[in-house]
Amino acid sequence: MIIRNGQVVLPGREEPEALDIRIRDGKIVELGPGLSGDEEVVEARGMLVLPGGIDPHVHFDDPGFTDREDFAAGSRFAASGGITTVIDMPCTSIPPVTTVANLEEKLKAVEKKAVIDYGFYGGVCCQSMGEGYPDNFLRLAEIVFGFKVYYISVMELFSAINTFQFRLILQRAAELGVTVLLHAEDFSYVSAATEYYLARGDTPVYYYNSRPEMAEILAVRSALELAEEAGADLHLVHLSTGKAARLTAAASATCETCPHLLEFNLDDFIRLGSPLKTPPPVKRAGNREELWDLLASGGIDFVASDHAPCPAEGKNTGSVWTDYAGMPGTGTLLPYVFSEGYLQGRLSLKRLVEVTSENAARRYGLYPDKGAIETGTDGDLVLIDPGQSWKVTGADFLSRGHITPFEGREFKGRVMETIVRGRTVYRAGAGILAEGGYGRFLTRG
Ligand SMILES: [Zn+2]
Repeated sequence: MIIRNGQVVLPGREEPEALDIRIRDGKIVELGPGLSGDEEVVEARGMLVLPGGIDPHVHFDDPGFTDREDFAAGSRFAASGGITTVIDMPCTSIPPVTTVANLEEKLKAVEKKAVIDYGFYGGVCCQSMGEGYPDNFLRLAEIVFGFKVYYISVMELFSAINTFQFRLILQRAAELGVTVLLHAEDFSYVSAATEYYLARGDTPVYYYNSRPEMAEILAVRSALELAEEAGADLHLVHLSTGKAARLTAAASATCETCPHLLEFNLDDFIRLGSPLKTPPPVKRAGNREELWDLLASGGIDFVASDHAPCPAEGKNTGSVWTDYAGMPGTGTLLPYVFSEGYLQGRLSLKRLVEVTSENAARRYGLYPDKGAIETGTDGDLVLIDPGQSWKVTGADFLSRGHITPFEGREFKGRVMETIVRGRTVYRAGAGILAEGGYGRFLTRG
């Protein structure tokens, strides 16, 4: 395949270069002007050519919760938004990825479905710290990209761990050199506040009050302290407050934030209701501006979608307390950051590439195969036409979930083509062009 006449964004560069790209056997083999040959040609005139997006935080729910999402729909939606690699969370499948046997069962269920490349996180929950621990943890560590744990969880099959258990996990992870990912909301605060506000009201404000800024800040403080003591490699997922992100940046840990946290605040939650319900919820005005500043300056390492859709009825149970918390997001992740980050001047072109691809690849050991346009790396590319605008329409999402707080929003810059290892998996106007199973299973190391 030759991608011709595109404006190619090379690693570390602030300006794109007019270059052709030759991909052979899945790898980029040549970069230069005026390439020719017998291969399939993709015309990219007028388009920016970026490394394929990496979404390192998705819940594709497969197997077990496929009424909400599955690997076929999730990976197709991701591809339609320029994502070429996802890493899936361990907690929202049956079985959860807490042992190698469970991982193998999951892999069997999904391997014929994905159209883009994918890896898994393992998980440690209260249940999995019983019999078999830490052997199950040790054996998984060689395959997964890290271990996800929760300070608070509403999932029946994947419960939270307490700070004592977290300390043990961090110590073990430090010995093994594996990353621990934490959902950081304080259990004691959120449990008590939920009971208190549940009895008093049923609007988004009450849900927000059960998980306000302080719930995250307390959790992040304790987690950073424990990780520092253990010498463990900690990553904090979906941070929603500027303060928690600043604390993380000042410690030797990393963090991510999400498009909905960058875009919306409590006033929007009050206006939009449950389509914007997520754990953690969006926060008071001021946080999103701080999150953008930190994303631009390096205080936040990258963006992730926390893609977690559900059927329409899950968002319309009649109570904000029981409505599903989560939204489809992997297909709008890169378009959002391109439009509102890069084209709005909040992020440079170099920083755009870092926060949507390069940094996640580096963080999880996939770089430079993923996350860079260079000779010898995987031919994972996204072609974006910066001159085209489009309107977000949830009904058109390839995900099984169609309710989005971005409904009706116009984004500038349209994903025209998504290429995974030298094959077009998505083309605007034509749709998905790869069969399920094309996506390759990635492991750590
Ligand atoms: Zn999540």
